[in-house]
Amino acid sequence: MHREDLLPALGRLIPSDRLLTRPGALAPYESDGLTSYRARPRAVVLAESADEVIETVRLCHEARVPFMARGSGTSLSGGAVPVEDGIVIALNRMNRVLRFDPVARVAVVEPGVVNLAVTAMAAPHGLYYAPDPSSQSVCTIGGNVAFNSGGAHCFRHGMTANHVLGLRVVLGDGTVVRLGGDSLEQAGPDLTGLFVGSEGLFGVALEITLRLVARPAVYRTVLAAYDNLQAAGDAVSRVIEAGLLPGAMEIMDRLAMDAAEAAVHAGYPPRAAAVLIVECEGEDAQVAAEFHALMQIIAASGAAHMHVAADDEERARIWKGRKCAFSAVGRLSPDFIVQDGVVPRARLGEALAAIEAMSRAHGIRVANVFHAGDGNLHPLILYDGREAGAHDRAEVLAAEILRLCIRLGGSITGEHGVGLEKRAFLSEMYDAGDIDCMRRLRDAMDPHRVANPGKKLEPSAEMPASHGMHPLERAGVISRA
Ligand SMILES: Cc1cc2nc3c(=O)[nH]c(=O)nc-3n(C[C@H](O)[C@H](O)[C@H](O)COP(=O)(O)OP(=O)(O)OC[C@H]3O[C@@H](n4cnc5c(N)ncnc54)[C@H](O)[C@@H]3O)c2cc1C
Repeated sequence: MHREDLLPALGRLIPSDRLLTRPGALAPYESDGLTSYRARPRAVVLAESADEVIETVRLCHEARVPFMARGSGTSLSGGAVPVEDGIVIALNRMNRVLRFDPVARVAVVEPGVVNLAVTAMAAPHGLYYAPDPSSQSVCTIGGNVAFNSGGAHCFRHGMTANHVLGLRVVLGDGTVVRLGGDSLEQAGPDLTGLFVGSEGLFGVALEITLRLVARPAVYRTVLAAYDNLQAAGDAVSRVIEAGLLPGAMEIMDRLAMDAAEAAVHAGYPPRAAAVLIVECEGEDAQVAAEFHALMQIIAASGAAHMHVAADDEERARIWKGRKCAFSAVGRLSPDFIVQDGVVPRARLGEALAAIEAMSRAHGIRVANVFHAGDGNLHPLILYDGREAGAHDRAEVLAAEILRLCIRLGGSITGEHGVGLEKRAFLSEMYDAGDIDCMRRLRDAMDPHRVANPGKKLEPSAEMPASHGMHPLERAGVISRA
């Protein structure tokens, strides 16, 4: 099929109200959460069934036109920025739960199901879906699978990869396959694990079999205040060294707390340089013992103040502040870059001190809010896009922080994917043989490289166009990242 025959062919497959081609209708799909970059797709297919997705992929493969799966577009690494002139397959309308078995603790869902909706469905049965990205009220399970997303409670329970038992997938060449199944016991290589985290480069997940876990009987949550950020980081290393396994360990620095306070009045201590939030969960007696040991470690770690959540309402308020922190930072700065890197947990304090020093040296404010238990860092690099060169200077600092993560033995992404944003750093983390192996895997599934090309494995590909300035931006009235 010729490229120019693709749209008419899609027109025979998808009703016209679900095949978007007009510029105004395409505009919302031009960028994702990394709003600095955009590209205009040729068309958007609002898919309502697996068959529509499969046929769209097959047509794209035949016409050699790139396509890209899209969930809610909350990617912060540009993973869901479309390929210029390609096809976006939007999956939000595929949001049905296909099977729910509370006894086997399994749910089979379509990719457009929102993360939090799985927990809402399972809650009456005392079950929930453990991976909880801060975007969980909007992001989709398909996007979570593509990025192997994490969240506050992934420290204890593991990332998305630990909760996906099986997949039905259409590969980039149009082949439909089932990977994994209903249990963790599978024969052969872990192909489900291979697909999870592949950032849409292997194809599109059509059905996802999720593992559900029992809701803990009790939670105990403590908020510890510190006079400096490094001490909070070092406290995390001590908890891990002691062999404790809390449900979550999160750190917020002063800037992040200020933002969250302004947004939701979470009640964070007004003068602390940083807070560490630690939550134990499980059966009553086990939590009581673990919490006792935890409090002793925190008291010995130099915490200036410790506050235990008195009830569910207070616990919910602490978490609400933490989960809204990314978006709340918009109250402190017109623009910011959300960076995502990882360091070995024993070096967390050292990494935080180095980031503070870099922030001072560049004269750029950095807010920190992150899943500390995983060694995850999310420095939010604040800048004002109305100032000439400010975005570029922020990018330089963001790159220095990523290189710090690599130098300390960590990774260039904890959970937000490589996408467009970090593909230039892939070769600093992996050697040529490693990257070639990833490319050969991709080529086996998508020989013509039509599935989300230009991301992750292709550092030399052209960046899509950066946003031109809106007249209101030029006038200094609004600004955006
Ligand atoms: C305020 C905020 C907080 C966030 N907090 C977290 C956090 O705590 N942890 C975390 O991990 N992330 C976080 N994120 C990033 C993001 O929400 C997650 O990575 C999420 O998993 C993306 O889901 P989505 O549905 O929006 O995917 P999209 O952004 O639409 O797509 C992301 C990638 O997945 C691919 N994709 C989507 N659906 C499929 C499919 N069915 N098959 C194959 N590929 C597919 C896309 O092609 C793209 O490459 C946050 C983002 C925001 C804006």
